[in-house]
Amino acid sequence: MQAPTWLTEGAPHVWRPYCQMKTAPAPLPVARTEGCRIILEDGRALVDGIASWWTACHGYNHPHIRAAVQAQLERAPHVMFGGLAHEPAYRLASRLAKLLPGDLDHVFFAESGSVSVEIAMKMALQFWINRGVSGRTRFLSFLGGYHGDTLATMTICDPEEGMHSLFSGVLPAQHVVALPVDDASEAGLRAYLQENGPEIAAMLVEPRVQGAGGMLFHDDEVLRRLRAIADEFEILLVFDEIFTGFGRTGDLFACEGAGVVPDIITLSKALTGGTLPLSCAVASRRIFETFWSDRADAALMHGPTYMANPLACAAANATLDLFEDGSWRGRVAAIAEGLRAGLEPCRGLPGVVDVRVLGAIGVVEMQAPVPAGELSRRFAELGVWVRPMGRVVYLTPPFVVSAEELDRLTGAIRTLLSS
Ligand SMILES: *Cc1c(COP(=O)(O)O)cnc(C)c1O
Repeated sequence: MQAPTWLTEGAPHVWRPYCQMKTAPAPLPVARTEGCRIILEDGRALVDGIASWWTACHGYNHPHIRAAVQAQLERAPHVMFGGLAHEPAYRLASRLAKLLPGDLDHVFFAESGSVSVEIAMKMALQFWINRGVSGRTRFLSFLGGYHGDTLATMTICDPEEGMHSLFSGVLPAQHVVALPVDDASEAGLRAYLQENGPEIAAMLVEPRVQGAGGMLFHDDEVLRRLRAIADEFEILLVFDEIFTGFGRTGDLFACEGAGVVPDIITLSKALTGGTLPLSCAVASRRIFETFWSDRADAALMHGPTYMANPLACAAANATLDLFEDGSWRGRVAAIAEGLRAGLEPCRGLPGVVDVRVLGAIGVVEMQAPVPAGELSRRFAELGVWVRPMGRVVYLTPPFVVSAEELDRLTGAIRTLLSS
């Protein structure tokens, strides 16, 4: 089939993400989506193994989310959030506060994950300034981490894996160290903080799974250690749950499952069920109270134009409704089982160094980086949408994926990695 006109006419003008445009294969033209399928212009339906960068947790075009967005579109698609309030955002904030553990009760909305991480960083810096503590101007993050592509978030990504090594020397250097996964690395982190602790405003970590940096898993014990170390050295602890939030690891939030309450948490991706851009940084009472003051200059001076967009908040409320009956837990557990059964046989294949599964995340780690663009074209020929990342071929399907669809996804990975 010939490429659609919109594609050939638009292609010279669209700058695509994360690719060398000169050599990357052309993108696949999408006509529509439905459930766990991406339907291409040529009529092929691909089973989606990625949930569109981990967003479409309830599948595409869910009637409940669609109805909520449509109703809000009639009422008010957008109003500025300065000086005005609307039900979708206020309802969403109170629901998030109720769902999140501890006193993570103060929700600041934005539109993208990276921006919510920047807001968390800004909150952390100003927390110390507002308390009259000077010198806490830098951040500590962890090897293997990914927190976004904007200037500030690039500085806290893994300097090698994080795609941003080109900019080292241009951006302010932050401390990026090994996660305290055992006694030796914990001692290393403590020694590091003995020296550098007083200049650090906050530690940032993706709890349980470091996503875009390579789908690396760590035990909940690591998070408990980080909480203890943060308290001991009086450093704020930020959990970036943009990937892990909303059920992906088997608990609604990784922090809740691990029994560790951070000072600030960032959320996005699955928040609107893959429909509209929305993110938030949620602060604990202790953080919020340092901004609550008679002094104007103690306020958080931030406010993205489209913050708390009513359509996006309506989508998020509808997404939370779908989590309410708890049936996602059984589905995620079944996906974990299917992923284990389907991917474990890859362990013996050439070039495979590890196979691991947590919740609805299945990972086959390779010895060397794989050509993502080319491989995803070959996956598409097998009727699935899988987009490898660095050295990992992974699956993060929508939670409504059927057993049969999951078999097709894992089968395609076994086929391609055996060939
Ligand atoms: C995707 C992601 C981000 C960045 O979110 P964007 O919406 O792409 O800006 C930040 N942190 C984590 C853990 C992510 O997975």
